[in-house]
This record gives sequence, structure tokens and C-alpha cells, in this order.
Amino acid sequence: TLFTELGLAEPVLRAVVAESYTTPTPIQAQAIPVVLAGADLIGIAQTGTGKTAAFVLPLLHKLAEQRQAPEARTCRALILAPTRELAQQIAESTRAYGKFIRPRVAVVIGGAKPGPQARQLLAGLDIVVATPGRLLDHIATGVFRLDATDTIVLDEADQMLDLGFMPAIRRIMAMLPARRQTMLFSATMPKPIRALATEFLRDPREVAV
Ligand code: AMP
Repeated sequence: TLFTELGLAEPVLRAVVAESYTTPTPIQAQAIPVVLAGADLIGIAQTGTGKTAAFVLPLLHKLAEQRQAPEARTCRALILAPTRELAQQIAESTRAYGKFIRPRVAVVIGGAKPGPQARQLLAGLDIVVATPGRLLDHIATGVFRLDATDTIVLDEADQMLDLGFMPAIRRIMAMLPARRQTMLFSATMPKPIRALATEFLRDPREVAV
């Protein structure tokens, strides 16, 4: 498979070329067409397989195809990650892959001052990359809500389970609009992650590498 065969929008492909990626990795080749077709996705993949681009590239494609000014206090797409470091890495990749689309991206993580995060959230964003606890804090203070968020990614779901984030994730999932696309990535599929997928994903396609 070639990147040009996956159906990605031109500014996304240009960024892939700028990264010097020649061919999609197996998780990218399998996951990207599923996401572009609008289906929910379970991706079983470890770090290092190129899983970040597998969800970020189609997410950027959706933004490029349905460009609109960010709405105050919400975001179009939400990516949840277990750790601050992973959230920052995902945001960095998103900015690189989005260099010709220039989405408004914010990182919302614990350990950083909430004030600057709140100002970004109030202004409205295309993409928020967050750890679950801090995101809920901003929702509790009324700075942020999820009513316009139509794409959600749970990255490293098994790690989020191990770190005790499952109650926070369930609360966040319950706030999202019913009409949405949900992607869940995990290296392993323990029972509670299966149950989460059954409850919150709709007719998901599963790809494993
Ligand atoms: P990830 O599994 O998302 O952490 O990605 C692992 C590494 O693979 C990152 O350094 C990416 O920049 C790189 N990468 C992702 N997709 C490709 C690709 N199609 N070709 C070459 N490198 C890639």
C-alpha cells in the first residue's frame, strides 16, 4: 500500500512527504481507510508501530475536509492519553502532520498551570490532547465542554486502565455527543477495555498488528 492509495486529503499527504515517510506502516495501512470510511475503530498496536499517525492523519483529514472556525469552549477532536509525556508527543506529531492544515491544538495535562490551558480552551480548539483528570477539572470549572466534539481517540487504553483512569474516561465518554467517531488504541485487550469498547464504540472494526 502507498500513502496516496489511502484516500487522505492533499495537505495531509504533503505533510507525510515532508516527514519523509515512504510507505504506511501496517497499522496505518489497515486503520486509516476504516477511519476515513467513518467507522469506529479498535486498534491493537504497541508503541513504535506508527499508531500515532494511524489516528492523527485521518483526524486531520476530517478537519481539512470540514474546515470551520473553532467554537469557543469546545473542540472538534479529543485525544486522551495516559501520561503527560505521551500527550505532549502526540501533540508534537499532530503539529508536524498538520503543518499544512495548521489546526488549533492544545495540550491539557496535569503538572502544568491551569490558567493558560483555560484560556486556550475558552478560545476554542480543533484538537485537544489531554490526560483525563485535568480535562475533567476544566469541564468542572465550566471552561470547557464536549458538545461539539465529534471525534475521540483513546490512546494506550490499557495504560489508562492501569493508572486508574477508567472512571474518568467513562465520565468523559458519557459527555460526548452520541453522533461521533470513536477510536480506541491499546497494546492489549484486558476485559475492562473490551467492556469499555462494547459500551462506547458503535459497530467497531478491529485491526491488530
Ligand atoms: P508511534 O508508534 O506512533 O510512536 O511511531 C513510532 C515512530 O515511527 C515515530 O518516530 C514516527 O515518526 C515513525 N513513523 C510513523 N509512521 C511512519 C511511516 N509510515 N514511515 C516511517 N516512519 C514512521
